[in-house]
Amino acid sequence: MEQHQAMPTVGFVSLGCPKATVDSERILTQLRAEGYGISGSYDGADLVIVNTCGFIDAAVEESLEAIGEAVSEHGRVIVTGCLGARAELVREAHPGVLAVTGPHAYAEVMQAVHEHLPAPEHPFVSLLPPQGVKLTPHHYAYVKISEGCNHRCTFCIIPSLRGDLASRPIGEVLREAAQLVEAGVRELLIVSQDTSAYGLDLRYRPDFWHGRPLRTDIVNLAQALGELPAWVRLHYVYPYPQVDALIPLMAEGRILPYLDMPLQHGSPAVLKAMRRPAAAERVLERLARWRETCPELVIRSTFIVGFPGETEADFATLLDFLRAAELDRVGCFAYSPVAGAAANALPDPVPAEVAEDRRERFMAVQAEISRAKLARRVGERLTVLVDEVEDEQVIARSYADAPEIDGTVIVPGAWDLAPGDFIEVVVTGSGEHDLWAEPTGA
Ligand code: SF4
Repeated sequence: MEQHQAMPTVGFVSLGCPKATVDSERILTQLRAEGYGISGSYDGADLVIVNTCGFIDAAVEESLEAIGEAVSEHGRVIVTGCLGARAELVREAHPGVLAVTGPHAYAEVMQAVHEHLPAPEHPFVSLLPPQGVKLTPHHYAYVKISEGCNHRCTFCIIPSLRGDLASRPIGEVLREAAQLVEAGVRELLIVSQDTSAYGLDLRYRPDFWHGRPLRTDIVNLAQALGELPAWVRLHYVYPYPQVDALIPLMAEGRILPYLDMPLQHGSPAVLKAMRRPAAAERVLERLARWRETCPELVIRSTFIVGFPGETEADFATLLDFLRAAELDRVGCFAYSPVAGAAANALPDPVPAEVAEDRRERFMAVQAEISRAKLARRVGERLTVLVDEVEDEQVIARSYADAPEIDGTVIVPGAWDLAPGDFIEVVVTGSGEHDLWAEPTGA
């Protein structure tokens, strides 16, 4: 209670994707820098910020519920994030909120906070850890390199929520990454809406890093990040030509040989209706070349089935693509309309039960592929990063597993290890998602 009196305190509710998490971390970091306290409960807080997600209807519901809970439990609420871009919706449901701001509107959020809860006169700047306040476990961190997106995929409303691509200068990103590594982070997860397009909006303008000019583009960024003593994992990479230049960096071990590449479909007709860049055959050719250069390359992707106009023949083309591509990790969604998306106006919607049936058939094909690929790893030696240490086992990940979305490497037994440790293991067993392993020399 004493601390509460000395320090104006903000409660924080963070919803949504890794990109929203990065927004939350930036706001929390700024609050802390200005001397505000952060509270994990409504009780200790003078004011509550809810960082929302508005990507699909279910997320809108969840966000509105979270705002409702904060309003009824606490009363003094500021709303930010993707749903904040639809302020009328928020105000209609919860007229009592103090302020509503959109995504990555850090200055506006802070302005609203200052208005409703003035900052202390002497900020406790020393309380701020140099790497900022992180919501992820200590040993890995998301680094957002740009906001927004220049594409206009018909199922997506992100550009209307977050605007066109806006890249951070390369020096700024590298300084943040270096600080994180300095503070003990062992794995950097590079996120954006469109990582391959990084720098395009800045016309790849050079920025300074360690006193030398460096072009703001994804290849230079990956190269420079690769010099840091940490794993570097790239997410949301679209198969543009510059990706070819990333693969040698993976083969040389500078960044992880892992690509998170949302492909969404394998039928050219559906990809066209989705207004996605890149046609299916080209992707297969590129995959084959990338694997020649870097045989250990692991690819994760997501797909949508049941998109308006998708015929049984399109779906069969997708399954053929899936079998030919032999991707390692795959997620699949049955299409569902998103309020405000252009795809809602497309003809020939696919009935929900047909879409769900296709999703199940898709996942059955992929399950066999994933299982077979993991089984081939038995006997392999891998470096793994420890995430959790339990009484009877250690949960770790190899280069092939991104946190939260992929599988894990389970090491049975009690080991004197801590999260963030790297260890060498030999793979002893495999399932559909996970591997089992024992430390080498055990
Ligand atoms: S690439 Fe397409 S799906 Fe991804 S954020 Fe941009 S518009 Fe949305």
